[in-house]
Amino acid sequence: MKNNKYKGLCSKLVAHLKEKGIKDQKVLNAISSTPRHLLFDLVFRDKFAYQDIAFPIGENQTISQPYTVAFQSELLHVKRGDKILEIGTGSGYQTAVLCELGAKVFSIERQKSLFQSAKLFLNQNNYRAQLFFGDGFLGKKVFAPYDSVIVTCGAPYVPEELKDQLKLGGRLVIPVGEGDVQQMMLIQRLNESDYKETVYGEFKFVPMLKNINNYKSV
Ligand code: SAH
Repeated sequence: MKNNKYKGLCSKLVAHLKEKGIKDQKVLNAISSTPRHLLFDLVFRDKFAYQDIAFPIGENQTISQPYTVAFQSELLHVKRGDKILEIGTGSGYQTAVLCELGAKVFSIERQKSLFQSAKLFLNQNNYRAQLFFGDGFLGKKVFAPYDSVIVTCGAPYVPEELKDQLKLGGRLVIPVGEGDVQQMMLIQRLNESDYKETVYGEFKFVPMLKNINNYKSV
């Protein structure tokens, strides 16, 4: 899926992620296999696709920084066949990485044009995720419960619906905070009513937004 030029750039990125502390080899392999350059316009591709930075993808949104994608993916402890709900499909990059890890991914996006372009990217590259256009605050109850839930936008609070849709023992990885900076949280479901929270430091995400009618349609 990658020619030698992109393979080279990507293995430098993976080495950099290792240096920054990503240890899970399965996550590093998934990053190696995912063609991030295909999500960039030709003019930006060579220079930016395999740099460890977030990048604009239109509609005021960004493709997440590879380190953030790797960090969240590592926290999910993905096993092959896991059912994962993602909130904020965006470009589809994180979705593709989860598919590479062998997960069955369900992903929700609130902006129509991003939903459509992510669908195209994932279909064209044989990633078989189920994509939904809608409001991630509600989760996707019809397919619940999930082994894990990943939120890739900055949530103002932890939505109860997302906690409810976890399997017992399931993991919710969610950046929480209303300003420019969020705290990465891991919420593990211990039993029907008890959850354990762990906080993992600061990250920057675009905000998780409620008003579904506010999107720009194509
Ligand atoms: N995972 C993406 C990150 C995209 S940025 C990637 O790898 O590229 C976060 C995305 O969350 C944006 O596309 C934004 O439109 C979306 N988003 C924000 N609020 C949302 C909500 N309530 N429900 C679903 N998606 C939402």
